[in-house]
Amino acid sequence: MHEYAVTQSLLKLVVDEAKRVEASKVLEIRLVIGDLSTIVDDSVQMYFDIMSEGTIAQGAKLVFRRVKAEFKCRECGEVFIKPTTGFDCPKCGGLGMPTGVGKEFYIESLEIE
Ligand SMILES: [Zn+2]
Repeated sequence: MHEYAVTQSLLKLVVDEAKRVEASKVLEIRLVIGDLSTIVDDSVQMYFDIMSEGTIAQGAKLVFRRVKAEFKCRECGEVFIKPTTGFDCPKCGGLGMPTGVGKEFYIESLEIE
């Protein structure tokens, strides 16, 4: 279960940060997830609801922002958003390689009170 570990470290980060700024409650957590990361939004929220019970982050809402995966053509160097199927360059039909954009998973911001 990939999301389990991810959610665990996410919760720890959030709780640490909330303590650092002496918050009383975490309302919302905005996350950025790359399309290439295999994280399922609903699973993260589900684990989060279970794990955050009794912590300062209990009841916080997770908001996900998806980042499209970017590929770079090996032939012509064109950078493009990954098509729905395949990895072909829209310009020359060459093979696209991942640029690293689309693999992110991080906290963009927190809303606390
Ligand atoms: Zn190309």
